[in-house]
Amino acid sequence: MRAMKPPRERESAALRQARKGWRIQYVDSASSIRLAEQALARAEPGGDRPAEAWALLTRGFHRMRYVSPREGAAELRRAQQCFARLSDRRGEILATVGVARCEWMEGRFRESLDELLPLRAEALAVLRHEERAMFLNGIAGCYSAMAQSAQAFAYMYEALRESSAVRDHGFDVVLYCNLAHELYQLGDYYEALSYLKEGIARSDRLHNARLASVLRTNRVVCLTDLERAGEALADIEAVLALPGEAERRGPSGPAYETMAIAALRAGELALGRELLQRAREALPHERLPDARVELVVGEAELLARQGDPQRAVECLEAARPLQTEGLSLRAQCLYFQRLADLHEALGHTPEALRHMHTWQQLHTERARLASQARYQAASLQTELLRLQHERDEIDARQRATERAKAELEAINLQLQQKVREVEALQAELQQRAVRDALTGLFNRRHLNDVLPSMLALAQRDGQPLAMVIIDLDHFKAVNDEYGHQAGDVVLRAFGELLHRRMRKSDVACRYGGEEFCLLLPRTSAVAARRKVEGLLKEWRGASFDFPSGRLASATFSAGVADTAVVAASPEALLNAADRCALQAKRLGRNRVVVADVP
Ligand code: GH3
Ligand code: MG
Ligand code: MG
Repeated sequence: MRAMKPPRERESAALRQARKGWRIQYVDSASSIRLAEQALARAEPGGDRPAEAWALLTRGFHRMRYVSPREGAAELRRAQQCFARLSDRRGEILATVGVARCEWMEGRFRESLDELLPLRAEALAVLRHEERAMFLNGIAGCYSAMAQSAQAFAYMYEALRESSAVRDHGFDVVLYCNLAHELYQLGDYYEALSYLKEGIARSDRLHNARLASVLRTNRVVCLTDLERAGEALADIEAVLALPGEAERRGPSGPAYETMAIAALRAGELALGRELLQRAREALPHERLPDARVELVVGEAELLARQGDPQRAVECLEAARPLQTEGLSLRAQCLYFQRLADLHEALGHTPEALRHMHTWQQLHTERARLASQARYQAASLQTELLRLQHERDEIDARQRATERAKAELEAINLQLQQKVREVEALQAELQQRAVRDALTGLFNRRHLNDVLPSMLALAQRDGQPLAMVIIDLDHFKAVNDEYGHQAGDVVLRAFGELLHRRMRKSDVACRYGGEEFCLLLPRTSAVAARRKVEGLLKEWRGASFDFPSGRLASATFSAGVADTAVVAASPEALLNAADRCALQAKRLGRNRVVVADVP
């Protein structure tokens, strides 16, 4: 049984809609924004503040991803204010997470971190699991961009732990994606590929084209750096085939420059050229330094492939990154390695060596960070596995409990069925105990059982109770003439007549062989006599066709007494009725005799 929840504030339909939109933002981005818009349309005229706040929050995150960080931030600040007015710290912090993410997207990593770090303790206390993961992931992103990998990993794994406590809201896929990104930054391509494989498999179940695009682009990076660019073509094709929203550039468009390098290295010149063109068109919106460097490397790659290494070198030299802030080690390696290669191809040995040297230094730094981060990752990974194992065990236990419950229910059902059968059987047995088998009328035992209480009831009511004894006339002759079975048929027919003609409250018994006794509550002897004469009239009209001949008419003799004229005891009443019946026989049968007042 589920524990009772404390009564919650009643949610408006708009608020439910807005909250759902928020919850499914990673699972189904299109439905998420649609719900947010609907909630806003509903909320605004009535001033439904909570609904408005959650819808603005959802729309802010969406705009950040699909329109621009600036517009996203504007919306998120509105959400922040709404939540502040409602004194809803959870919402306010979530809006701040969004604002910080916008700053991050604009390359303002330090500011982004400064928004988040002071909220850490409070955020972990007021946010729910997956929201905590979003918060932690925000911090991780800043450290990652500031090349503080060990910190980035620590926060990412913590985030992963939080989000794996809730399944299927999609944020775990975001984390797999970011973790892979962090890993390949340090040169851990194989580890990154395994996270990407898992992430891509999970993202196939989501309706989130943007996430799918980023995951696959990350795999393109790994495969390209591992000199397996040919294998990346399938991912490029998949990204280009994704539905509309992923194709839009802005902050969320696919990284065309990354794919261009892969295509060119795989020898797909036409595709590479087209992707480069798209990357150039997107450049004005692009603020991340890595993307700018990759575009230049891509341009150089194209020139080299077209047989012009000299211009390729010039292109690279012209764009030499002077300021490396925000530029990843990987992007720098990519740049200097290509530059060294091209100089070497042109026979410029001193330049080639110089750039090779720079590349080597960068590489050493990358390796150092990697080993540090790996150590941290390993210990956290162990912890994560333990938690996952624990959760699987809980799941298994829950499934076992559910199975046991289902079995118990089935057994209960069977038991109920059996109880019903037994009850039916008992009822039938009881019937048989009080009924006469041949006629279905009550038997003498039942009469003896009920007569005292019926008498008592009659006395208390001050109402008469009539008793009738009926004896079929010359019944022995019926048996003799037509056979015993014919006699049974006649008895059964008389039983049916009584069944049909007596009231529900009357008691009709087969008293002995061909003798019957009737008890009629609230009925005087005179009224009973009228009733019995009616029965006699009908019985006279009965006729039977037997194999041995036709019985054209039957009669009976009856005696009637009631409690008004007889001392109110069972025996006295029976005797009086019996005497009358006997007198009826003596008077020539085929009649009803009523006991006189003594
Ligand atoms: P009377 O008019 O004086 O009552 O004559 P009668 O023949 O009806 O009376 P008697 O007591 O001499 O005979 C009763 C007969 O009813 C005898 C018996 O065989 C028959 N009888 C009693 N019980 C049953 C039964 O269950 N089935 C059949 N077929 N006959 C029965
Ligand atoms: Mg008799
Ligand atoms: Mg008889």
